[in-house]
Amino acid sequence: MTTQTAQSTEKIWSLAKNIYLSTLQDESERNHAELYFGMISGVEIFPEECRISTTTAFAADFLRENYSERLKSSLNLAGVDANLALNFVVDTTAKRELHLTPSSTVPSQVPAPSLHKEIPSAPTVKSAQMISTLPLEENYTFESFVEGQSNSWALAAARGVSKYPGQKNYNPLFIHGGTGLGKTHLMQAIGNEIRRNNPQTNICYITAETFLNEFVNALQNKEKEAFRLRYRSADVLLVDDIQFLQRGTQCQEEFFNTFNDLTTRHKQIVMTSDVAPKKLPSLEQRLISRFEGGMVQEIEAPGYETRLAILQKKAELLDHSVPLHVLQFLAEHIKSHVRAIEGALAKVHIAISSNPTIQLTTEALSTLLKDVIENESKLRKLTIREIQEVVAKKFSVTLAQILSNDRTQTFVTARQMAMYISRKYTPMSVKQIGKEFDKQHPTIVHGWKTIARRLDVESDLRETLTEILNDLGISNN
Ligand code: ADP
Ligand code: MG
Repeated sequence: MTTQTAQSTEKIWSLAKNIYLSTLQDESERNHAELYFGMISGVEIFPEECRISTTTAFAADFLRENYSERLKSSLNLAGVDANLALNFVVDTTAKRELHLTPSSTVPSQVPAPSLHKEIPSAPTVKSAQMISTLPLEENYTFESFVEGQSNSWALAAARGVSKYPGQKNYNPLFIHGGTGLGKTHLMQAIGNEIRRNNPQTNICYITAETFLNEFVNALQNKEKEAFRLRYRSADVLLVDDIQFLQRGTQCQEEFFNTFNDLTTRHKQIVMTSDVAPKKLPSLEQRLISRFEGGMVQEIEAPGYETRLAILQKKAELLDHSVPLHVLQFLAEHIKSHVRAIEGALAKVHIAISSNPTIQLTTEALSTLLKDVIENESKLRKLTIREIQEVVAKKFSVTLAQILSNDRTQTFVTARQMAMYISRKYTPMSVKQIGKEFDKQHPTIVHGWKTIARRLDVESDLRETLTEILNDLGISNN
C-alpha cells in the first residue's frame, strides 16, 4: 500500500464526512454525528466493500443502524462506487489509520446513484444517465405538509412543478424563507411525487454545500468533466440551501452552465434559500437574473391556526394521544418555526409516555418547556409590521396613524416607540427600518433616541414598553 493511496482514502473519507454533515439540519445533529465519527478508527476501501472500523462494538452498531444509508450516499457522492457494501467492524487494536487497497481507486467515471430505501429507485435507468443524489425522506410528501396562508403559494407552485416538471412558468422554482419553515420538506415532496408518478425520472437532490464540496474535489482530482456530466443527466435537479453557492465563484460559474444546459432542455430545477434571490449579496448577477426568471415563492412563519393544524397532524403520528389544550398551548407559545414546534411536541410526548396520567396544566407545561419558550424569544424574527401593529394597539391608534406624518403627541410617541423597538429588537439596519416606516434615516435615528432618553426618566413609558414586548413574545433584556 502506498502513501498516495492511503491519502486518497483519507481524502474520500474526509469529503464523505463533509457531505454527510452538510445534509444535517441543525447544530445538535451535526455535533452528534461528529461525536460518532470520532469513534471511527479506520476506513478501508476494498474492491467489494468499504469497511469502517470503530473503537467499540456500540459505535459500530449505532453507526450501522443509524448512519448506513446516508453514509453510503455520502461516500457515493465522494466518488466511491455505490455497489460497494458498507460494513462496520470493531477494531480492538484501534489505531487511527486510513487505508486504501491498490485495486480500488477513485472512479473517474460518472458514479452510480446512491442506494436508498426510502423511495423507489429507478431500476431500469441506463448507467450513462445515473447521477449522484442524496436520499429523499419518504415522509416529506405533499400529504404530510399542512397548508396555511404562510405557505399556500409555495405549496401551489411545488404541486405545479410536480405535475408538469420542466414547464416554463415554473422553471426554475425558487422557494425562500427562514429556517425550519418547510422548504426542504416541500422540495423533497416534489421529488417524491415525481418519482411516484414516474419512477424512471432521474431526480437529483443535493445541497449547494455538497455541490460545492464535490466541485472542489473534482477540480483537485481533475475530474471536472465527469462532474459536469453528472448533473447534466438530471431530469429534475433539486438544490437545497442555494445560499451556500456564494462561497465559491468558480463553482457559481459551473452552476450557471449546468443551469443553462438543463433549462434549455426543459429539465426542472428547484432551489431553496434562506432569502430571496436579490438578497444573496455574493451571488453573481447573471445567476440572480436566472433565478428570478422562473417562479419565486416565499414561505413565511405560520400563523396560529396553521401551527395548530401542523401540531395536530404531527400528533396523530404519535403513539400516545396529546390533549388538544396541550397542542393549543404549544401553538400559542412556539411561533418561530416548525422545527421548534416539533421539538416541543417531542418533549411533551416523552413526558406523556413516561407518565400517562400526568396532568399537563399551563404551569406544568411552562416548566417542562421553559428552555424552548426562552429560546423562542431569542429566536423569533420580528417583522417591523408586527411591531407597528402591536404598538398601535397598545397606544389605541391605527397603523395608518403610525405611518403618517401627523404630529399629534400620541401618534408621535407610538411611532417613535415602534422605531425604537424595531431598532433594538430586530437585526434590521436603520435604512431598512426607514423603508418600512417610509421615513428618512435621520427621522428613525431621532425617533429611537428620543424614546431611549424618555425611558430613562418615565416609568410609565417603561411599563408600556414591557407590556408591548410581552405582547410581541420577547423578554425585556
Ligand atoms: P427548512 O428547510 O425551511 O429549514 P424543513 O423543511 O426542514 O425546513 O422543515 C422543518 C420541519 O418542519 C420538518 O420536519 C418539516 O416536516 C416540518 N414542517 C415545516 N412546515 C410544515 C408544514 N407546513 N406541514 C407539516 N410539516 C412541516
Ligand atoms: Mg432546509
